[in-house]
Amino acid sequence: MKFKIETKSLKFKLWLYFALFAALLMLILWFLQIIFLRTYYQEMKISETRKVANTIINQYDQPDIIDNISAISYKNDMYIHIETSDGTIIFTPDSKRTIMPAFFVKEMYGIRGNLFLNSLNTFSTIITEPRSNTKILAYGAFLDKTKGSEVILYIFSPLFPVDSTIEILASQLVYVTIISLVLAFVLSYFISNRLTKPIINITNSASKLAEGKYDVTFGGGNYSEIIRLEDTLNYTSKELAKAKNLQRDLIANVSHDLRTPLTMVKSYAEMIRDLSGDNPEKRNSHLQVIIEEADRLNILVSDLLVLSKMQSGVDVLEKSVFNIKDTVMNIILSYAIFIEKEGYMIDFKCDSDYFVYGDEIRIKQVISNLVNNAIKYCGEDKIVTITINEINENIHFEVSDKGKGIPKEELEHIWERYYKASTNHVRNSNSTGLGLSIVKEILLLHNAKFGVESTLGFGSTFWFELKKQ
Ligand code: ADP
Repeated sequence: MKFKIETKSLKFKLWLYFALFAALLMLILWFLQIIFLRTYYQEMKISETRKVANTIINQYDQPDIIDNISAISYKNDMYIHIETSDGTIIFTPDSKRTIMPAFFVKEMYGIRGNLFLNSLNTFSTIITEPRSNTKILAYGAFLDKTKGSEVILYIFSPLFPVDSTIEILASQLVYVTIISLVLAFVLSYFISNRLTKPIINITNSASKLAEGKYDVTFGGGNYSEIIRLEDTLNYTSKELAKAKNLQRDLIANVSHDLRTPLTMVKSYAEMIRDLSGDNPEKRNSHLQVIIEEADRLNILVSDLLVLSKMQSGVDVLEKSVFNIKDTVMNIILSYAIFIEKEGYMIDFKCDSDYFVYGDEIRIKQVISNLVNNAIKYCGEDKIVTITINEINENIHFEVSDKGKGIPKEELEHIWERYYKASTNHVRNSNSTGLGLSIVKEILLLHNAKFGVESTLGFGSTFWFELKKQ
């Protein structure tokens, strides 16, 4: 097997950047520790000495200064000495040892000379103690500058050789660098693997989805961006599955439901061709059947589409607050000509505006289907009553007719697709057997209560309730 590195992959880039970062960190560490350590140490020592000098200068007039200086000298590992210009010792680290080492005496002389000659307030220099070859920071400052009784502070702070420290550090750093780099390489390899694994999983699942396997689930991600992406893709696959089901249902329904009217159209067309073509009366009546069947087909197709969409969850409601009284009035208006022509009467009982929250177009369809049924099945008196009122914070809509009614045992079935009650069996262009299933789907999507009351021989009342707004 050939091992090939994909230099453009996220995995490789992550690993590379991580490793480079570790190498850079090591480089900075080397520079700081080895190259800058010497100067850094010296700078630090000088600023420390200056700080100590300032503390002594500030506290010089306080009574417990001598004790303080002892403590400061001990704590900071400094040789502090205070003397007047005429040689009277005010403070020296070992009070018994009044005689200063010759080397310091010589150096103090030099510092004093510099302070006086150049009329400086402070003076510092680095000297080398010849016996131990130790570098020492020598610092001098005036504590009192009164002419003739000047008081001078001397601080000698040894600069311990940093070479050996640097050597130790360097040898340690070699190990630290090797361990860090190896760790960085290995860790970054695992981290980049871990980070890219969910992406690889998603890619695999996505290719399955592309092949039409809609039951694939995206999961296993362990950081929020990937989890969000997985959620989105899961949602997408669910929607795709729904669309696929819708498509399959639709094809099945269409091929099943359209067969009857199409057969009718075909046989009547054949009848016109073979028998009634020359007989205008018969031909017209056969053509009328074809037209009615075509109308039926039209309604059937659109009903099927609505129903399939709603059942598959593709169709989302567009809810708003609307006045249901206006909706009903518009529907009644659209029946006006038909009512007048056919002698029907719609009695609308509604004493005020009623606002509800829902998808107005869909609710309009519910009302239309119910009113349509009431007109279709209302019987001899041709009276349909629509009532809207308020019951317990709900807006109650009902439509009643005085038709044949529906047998009790069939009531629960009339909401099913293509169910036709035994008492009311019409086959016209207006009847698809889907009206009440559409009503049911829409009202279920609205979480609305709905139902039917019917007494054989006395008529039916279909109702639903929506929350009052
Ligand atoms: P259709 O297109 O057949 O009317 P629906 O789904 O609208 O289909 O109704 C299903 C069945 O319920 C109808 O065939 C009819 O038998 C019965 N039905 C519906 N509404 C009424 C009504 N107002 N009075 C009596 N029967 C009704």
